[in-house]
Amino acid sequence: MQEGAYLRCIGHGCGLEYPVGRAGVRCERGHLLDVVYARRPPPSLKEVFYSRRNPGGSIFNESGVWRFRELLNFCQIDTADDAQCSASLVSLDGAEGRQSKPYRMSRAAEFAGVPAGSLWLQPEGYNPSGSFKDNGMATAVTHARMSGVRRIVCASTGNTSASAGMFAANEGIECGVYIPAGQIAPGKLSQAYQFGAQIIEVDGNFDDALSRSLADAADGGGYTVNSLNPFRIEGQKTITYRALEYMGWDPPDWMVFPGGALGNISSCGKAIMELLEWGWIKRAPRIAVINAEGASTFADLYNGGTGLGRLRWNGGSPDTGMIDEYYSRLDREGGRPATRATAIQIGRPANMLKGLRALEISGGVATTVTDEEMLDGMSIAGLNGFDCEMASGATIAGIKRLVSEGVIARDETVVGILTGRQKDAMLPVEYHRDPANRFARPPRT
Ligand SMILES: *Cc1c(COP(=O)(O)O)cnc(C)c1O
Repeated sequence: MQEGAYLRCIGHGCGLEYPVGRAGVRCERGHLLDVVYARRPPPSLKEVFYSRRNPGGSIFNESGVWRFRELLNFCQIDTADDAQCSASLVSLDGAEGRQSKPYRMSRAAEFAGVPAGSLWLQPEGYNPSGSFKDNGMATAVTHARMSGVRRIVCASTGNTSASAGMFAANEGIECGVYIPAGQIAPGKLSQAYQFGAQIIEVDGNFDDALSRSLADAADGGGYTVNSLNPFRIEGQKTITYRALEYMGWDPPDWMVFPGGALGNISSCGKAIMELLEWGWIKRAPRIAVINAEGASTFADLYNGGTGLGRLRWNGGSPDTGMIDEYYSRLDREGGRPATRATAIQIGRPANMLKGLRALEISGGVATTVTDEEMLDGMSIAGLNGFDCEMASGATIAGIKRLVSEGVIARDETVVGILTGRQKDAMLPVEYHRDPANRFARPPRT
């Protein structure tokens, strides 16, 4: 089952193409790249994917990422040949993506104001390193290995470093992690140490850490595994595949994600774009992306809350001058992203343009929620017996907001992604100790 795959630049008027085996992850002009597949995978694969839920001894069937390997076959291997899979595909023994699927959460539905039967939440925190990042890290490290790389690097608000560190340890390669000093949840930082990553503390925020890490990679010091890496995006498409498979490939009306660097919505957008093109689905679910009020670059630009107009993908010709103007304004005013949901405390989302594309092809929306709303969202998932972190609470809080505004209709179906497990152990303790919090259950003495 050989099929051609290559990289194509998404930059307006650029369109440069590269072979898939090249180690660089961006266009030589600095733009984002897409992995493009020459062949159209047949919809009959739906049955193959389903049958692999009985893995028959193959870790690549057990993996929630590689179970869909025909749709991300950038290695161009014979996907039916277990020896070729073993030689090429990076997996934590099939654990990535294995536990994730949509679940019903009746209390979260009640909180959000939708009927219990029309809301599903998909806890990606139940991945081996505790976040959705594992879906994309399995594929990015696969590409790193394919390119003969011995050291991966990333900037991280925490979960990327945990995931990169975990796969690097398992593969026996080096991992360098740039983190904004003092701004990482303790549970994430400790994972990066435990997995043996080399931590580089940056005095600044995530955006500063990313520039440092990209400079390091450009100097030949490593292979970038942040979500501007198009192979991360390929693996994260499987989050959408698992949701759609669960729905019998009949898309829900909405898919809802928190927005940080926007890799997650970019992946969902690419998955949908391809499935439409390949004739696997007839209509797109609408993507809703939820920013923190204190880190709302994307929602500001998309909704025109900047006085600059509404930024759009515009069929591939976005007005990038608007983004430059927004950033220079931030710089002039000393504006720094500020939210306790550190996973989405990002001022300059690397996947801005792919994010715009995702909303355009899906008829999507962007909005914001407050820290207090995110904490309530996080807590109501807990009261359903599911564990998630504050940034994931944005998904539930965002659904609530969009329902109250009439953007999501009460009879529409919604799949929300809970992006990561709780790694800030004291946050729920603090929340529940304060009786002023909506769902608090304070301790008794
Ligand atoms: C990385 C991360 C996000 C943000 O995802 P993007 O793809 O960067 O938009 C949200 N929640 C959690 C838990 C994360 O780890």
